[in-house]
Amino acid sequence: MKKSKSILSSLLLMMIVPLVAVGVFLSVSAWRAVYNTAKHDTKDTLSLAAHSVTDEINLMYPGQITQEGSHVKKGGKDLEEAVEILNAFHKNNQLDIIVYYNGGSILSTEKDSDSEMVIGKPVSETIKYYVCDSGLEYYSDRFKQDGETVSVYAVPWGSDQKGCVLVMQPVSKLTNYANTIALQIVLTVLVTILIAAAVCVIYANNLVKVIQKIKDYIGSMADRDASVKMDEQVLKRRDEIGDIGRSAVTVNGDLGKLINCDPLTELFNRRAGRARLARLMDSQEDVTIVMGDIDYFKQINDTYGHECGDMVLKKVAELIRNQMESRGFAARWGGEEFLLVYKKNREITTDKVHLLLEEIRSTSFEYDGERFHITMTFGIQECAEGLDMDGTIRLADEKLYYGKETGRNRIIADLLQQEKS
Ligand code: GH3
Ligand code: MG
Ligand code: MG
Repeated sequence: MKKSKSILSSLLLMMIVPLVAVGVFLSVSAWRAVYNTAKHDTKDTLSLAAHSVTDEINLMYPGQITQEGSHVKKGGKDLEEAVEILNAFHKNNQLDIIVYYNGGSILSTEKDSDSEMVIGKPVSETIKYYVCDSGLEYYSDRFKQDGETVSVYAVPWGSDQKGCVLVMQPVSKLTNYANTIALQIVLTVLVTILIAAAVCVIYANNLVKVIQKIKDYIGSMADRDASVKMDEQVLKRRDEIGDIGRSAVTVNGDLGKLINCDPLTELFNRRAGRARLARLMDSQEDVTIVMGDIDYFKQINDTYGHECGDMVLKKVAELIRNQMESRGFAARWGGEEFLLVYKKNREITTDKVHLLLEEIRSTSFEYDGERFHITMTFGIQECAEGLDMDGTIRLADEKLYYGKETGRNRIIADLLQQEKS
């Protein structure tokens, strides 16, 4: 058998998976955006530094470049002192600067183990090709220099295109910056996801609770348990779930009517009448039952037709219902026979049935322009200890038939003392 999936887990999956996906997408996008912005800023900074160093060397050392052995001069002045220009930039901006000439470094902010400036380092093929030989400016955010990945900017230097000024900074500075900013964004996204997830969980939980309540109600409907009421919170909802709840209540009511009510008279049917009587007999209340039957009903059918008979049955049911009010309930026992159950003792019940019979006698029926009156016969039996439901009904029936045999249109509450009405 397929394992049943809970709505809660499906809802959570539906809500949280897209949230996490959006969160990951936003974080990655944010990191890339920050990195790209920082990359451009770095390019500008490095470019500015490279041009400034170049301009300053050219300003301080005007004239042609000449090389004698390892010494490079410009305008006749030894360029070694120009390292101070590089060092000043290095100090202010933590940038590493190298000046290359004729394939090797002649000035550098890099120091060897003896704190001496590193010179004579060969220029990389890429820089030589793009900058020294072609006279172009070069930028890369992923340049390999001494096994380290660096951001680099190089500009040509010297009128004979043999030199270049290279400014660089570790790429970790760029990524660290992007990571710091992106981390803040990721944390914000994470908190948002957590809040959204918490809201989703609460919402999904509530939804499932409400659905569970409807499920329980429908379950009790299937068991025909009339005591279960639909939860007020479900009925108060103004959404589709509330609609389902209200529909279930309506269907239950209709179903109850269909199962328990007699469609013609709208009184309880025999089955529901028995069930209610059984429940009432279990209580400690006074209960008295009355069996009533319309006298010579067949004649009404025969004289005025079946439709008129139906009209009489409906009217009699209405009179019974109105007279009983909250004193008990009535059921159509079959044909033109009714069971009346009073939550009263025999004396009070007998009084009430007398009033009822009086009302029935005085009611004028009209069908097809013809007026007529009817009468009924009643047998009354109180529920007593040691008498079960069927025994009680049988005794009420016996009294009813005694009433029929002795002339009809009467109430028999005590067989020993025949009552006249
Ligand atoms: P009694 O005074 O002895 O009770 O005589 P009665 O004519 O009332 O009783 P009987 O049992 O001879 O006839 C009952 C009639 O009720 C027979 C049946 O056709 C009719 N009846 C039963 N159910 C309905 C109904 O739903 N509608 C109509 N119109 N007639 C019904
Ligand atoms: Mg009858
Ligand atoms: Mg009958």
